[in-house]
Amino acid sequence: MTRERRATGTVTIDVEGCKGCELCIAACPPSVLSMSTALNESGFRYPELSDGCTGCTACQLICPDYVFEVYRLAPTT
Ligand code: SF4
Ligand code: SF4
Repeated sequence: MTRERRATGTVTIDVEGCKGCELCIAACPPSVLSMSTALNESGFRYPELSDGCTGCTACQLICPDYVFEVYRLAPTT
């Protein structure tokens, strides 16, 4: 049986608040965060979101710099 990975959430990322520690990358269960190649104003790489966020809040909980806001998406019919 295959299950489609449906996005049920999304996040906003305050890239200028990021210190580039990468804790969020490993913490994201569906592995939809990856570090940018670009740098923010402070010279740090920052996470970028791909499709498939579940809204689980793991990134928000682990980030020491409060970079994430998590939004749960209402189910579609
Ligand atoms: S955990 Fe926070 S500070 Fe660390 S890389 Fe991720 S967004 Fe940046
Ligand atoms: S809310 Fe969960 S699934 Fe979405 S980016 Fe954060 S850790 Fe990943």
